[in-house]
Amino acid sequence: MSIYVLDFKPAGGGFDLVHDDAPGGAHTGHVAATDISFGTQMDGSTDYRTAVIACPFPGCGSVSTHPVGGGAAPRSVQEMFIRMVIRLGCPCGAFTAGKSAVLTIIHLKGHVTALEGAQRWQVASIVP
Ligand SMILES: [Zn+2]
Ligand SMILES: [Zn+2]
Repeated sequence: MSIYVLDFKPAGGGFDLVHDDAPGGAHTGHVAATDISFGTQMDGSTDYRTAVIACPFPGCGSVSTHPVGGGAAPRSVQEMFIRMVIRLGCPCGAFTAGKSAVLTIIHLKGHVTALEGAQRWQVASIVP
């Protein structure tokens, strides 16, 4: 499928990842929250609709880009976006960093509903 987060460690402990379609078989790794970033649009601006994860496994070098709606791993990807927006604010420009998880979820759910419909959002809360 791709590189995605299996376990969000509490209290800034980073994320445990899996790269499940790596050549030669799935492998895992660990990154800091700051290692995951928003994507970039064609004009070079930051894209609130995508997030980019690079696989930390030695020698791998693969990168996955995930849509805010979550693609094939909606819960994991949506939580990743929640945590990015709490840390960085939303690149749409309408939501600043450091808000509560509840407010951040409401904001992101709005984006996902606009892009993919109201049924798409799955995350009701996170453990900070
Ligand atoms: Zn990998
Ligand atoms: Zn936004």
